[in-house]
Amino acid sequence: MTRIVVLGAGIGGVPMAFELKELLGRKADITVVSQTDYFQFVPSNPWVAVNWRKPADVKVSLPEVFKRLKIGFTSAGAKRLKPHENAVELNDGSTLSYDYLVIATGPHLAFDEVEGLGPNGYTKSVCHVDHAGLAGERWEEFCKNPGPMVVGAVQGASCFGPAYEYALTVVADLRKRKIRDRVPLTFVTSEPYIGHLGLGGVGDTKGMLESIMRDRDIKWVTNAKVDRVNADSVEITEFNEDGTPKKSQKIASNFTMLLPSFRGVDCLKDEDGKWIEGLTNPRGFVLVDRKQRNSKFPNIFSVGVCIALPPFEPTPVPVGMPKTGYMIESMCTAAAHNIRDLIMGREPSHEGTWNAVCLADFGDNGVAFIAQPQIPPRNVSWSAQGYWVHLAKVAYEKYFMRKVRKGLSEPVYEGVIMKALGIVRLRAGKNA
Ligand SMILES: Cc1cc2nc3c(=O)[nH]c(=O)nc-3n(C[C@H](O)[C@H](O)[C@H](O)COP(=O)(O)OP(=O)(O)OC[C@H]3O[C@@H](n4cnc5c(N)ncnc54)[C@H](O)[C@@H]3O)c2cc1C
Repeated sequence: MTRIVVLGAGIGGVPMAFELKELLGRKADITVVSQTDYFQFVPSNPWVAVNWRKPADVKVSLPEVFKRLKIGFTSAGAKRLKPHENAVELNDGSTLSYDYLVIATGPHLAFDEVEGLGPNGYTKSVCHVDHAGLAGERWEEFCKNPGPMVVGAVQGASCFGPAYEYALTVVADLRKRKIRDRVPLTFVTSEPYIGHLGLGGVGDTKGMLESIMRDRDIKWVTNAKVDRVNADSVEITEFNEDGTPKKSQKIASNFTMLLPSFRGVDCLKDEDGKWIEGLTNPRGFVLVDRKQRNSKFPNIFSVGVCIALPPFEPTPVPVGMPKTGYMIESMCTAAAHNIRDLIMGREPSHEGTWNAVCLADFGDNGVAFIAQPQIPPRNVSWSAQGYWVHLAKVAYEKYFMRKVRKGLSEPVYEGVIMKALGIVRLRAGKNA
């Protein structure tokens, strides 16, 4: 029987395993390797960080789900990938061999690249549910003794949406508590302009997000590199268009949340601690073609945030290209069909669309956008805002969690969110 190993059990890995099972049934022996025995719905973490959700609300225990579906599962975690031997060494000392491997390990959070960054330093994080839970605890303390805040994303970050989501959700929460007037808030970002999002903007995200931030009294600094984070301040350098330093400043902050840059996870390094030659780019992101397949190791596929995508354009301060849920869904579908093709003796023919569709929730408002293709010039470049985006995000959370609990292979974005966005666009008369 064909052995397939899926590394990672997040937004990419879990649907990947479900789709493979649905397509291959008893033809394949599928095993998922994760580092935890639960799935976390990462997009809800900004809500966890302001205590609108408890950590347990956004987790699903995985062993029972996979057992029911007859998919092997271990939370031992991968220690080292050995692609020349078609094997993965696990942290518990065991080794799993495979005929096909799908890498869905998400990002390593590169907090170490900026002094003082990360939950072990002076910033809060929403990238992991444990970080968000910790941020939620500290949030209550902060609200008893409010002061200045900095929120944003550092140099090399690629995931900007959650920074906007968190900043605006924080404002919504502070307003509910009637203490917004005691919290000067500065948004610090490596993006060249507000609403760039690593994508050159989508529709009018620049105008919309600037307007929303003005309306919520949020100051911002763009083209910013974070030099250091301290317990009570953030030190940044702002850059000119030509990449020369413009101004350095220290911004007071008693509560800081900055999205880090990402790199590949350590199990993709060889025994000498170097990224495996031909498998990854110099940041450890997995090199794949549009069929989600690595060319040096053609029995290795990869989906999710861990794949290599070049930045959209050079910017004064480096920014990366985001990978969001809808794209990841399309990657999983392509990879699952291509592995089936190979097993059936056919050439793989399915390509991920890699389009970006995103719901950025602001608690009492939100921005939705569709970018097809992800990079301009686009066939569809559409954005819209309203309270309905908050409701759509809640629906996304509910559908995704249900999908994981029940082991459903149906795509969430394609099945639910795109239909809902289609109705909104038709009603708005903007059939872009
Ligand atoms: C705060 C935040 C909010 C976001 N909100 C949205 C949103 O609203 N909409 C949207 O479309 N996108 C959103 N994204 C972007 C994207 O959808 C998420 O980052 C998503 O979680 C990426 O899925 P993934 O499977 O690639 O990585 P992850 O979900 O991070 O999963 C990676 C998995 O790999 C496992 N793993 C890591 N190392 C190993 C190892 N060595 N061995 C075994 N397993 C390992 C991890 O434990 C985890 O299970 C958001 C991202 C962030 C950070």
